Amino acid sequence: MWLVVHRRCLTADNLDRRGWPSNGACPLCLSTHEDCTHLFVHCCFSQQVWIKFRDWTGADFRTPDDSFCSTEEWWLNTRKEVPKPERRNFDTIAILLHWRIWKERNARIFEQVASNVDRVLELIREDIATWRTAGCV
Ligand SMILES: [Zn+2]
Repeated sequence: MWLVVHRRCLTADNLDRRGWPSNGACPLCLSTHEDCTHLFVHCCFSQQVWIKFRDWTGADFRTPDDSFCSTEEWWLNTRKEVPKPERRNFDTIAILLHWRIWKERNARIFEQVASNVDRVLELIREDIATWRTAGCV
């Protein structure tokens, strides 16, 4: 999450800055140049992950795209709106959704395997179930 907050993930824009190869396009939607903000916030695929997750949980929180300034600002402001006893879970979920979006992006690039939004949500549910068993959520 530090990399996301500081826009340092190795997305196409940051790869370009380093002179490293990339095809430039967002691997999730193929509609625009990939950068950290697009990948996690404005990409239609990622937006669907956030919205479907919110619908599944029934939790009332703003997704990053609702009023985005920066990941840090979204996270801190949205966190304030979450009841205090639920904030730790919110942090865990925010990290998990970013992680799963990142994993999906990497699977498409490095393994040529693409999952749909429902499959990504299924993986998120499995992660939560595993973490719940371990007492983490
Ligand atoms: Zn995209």
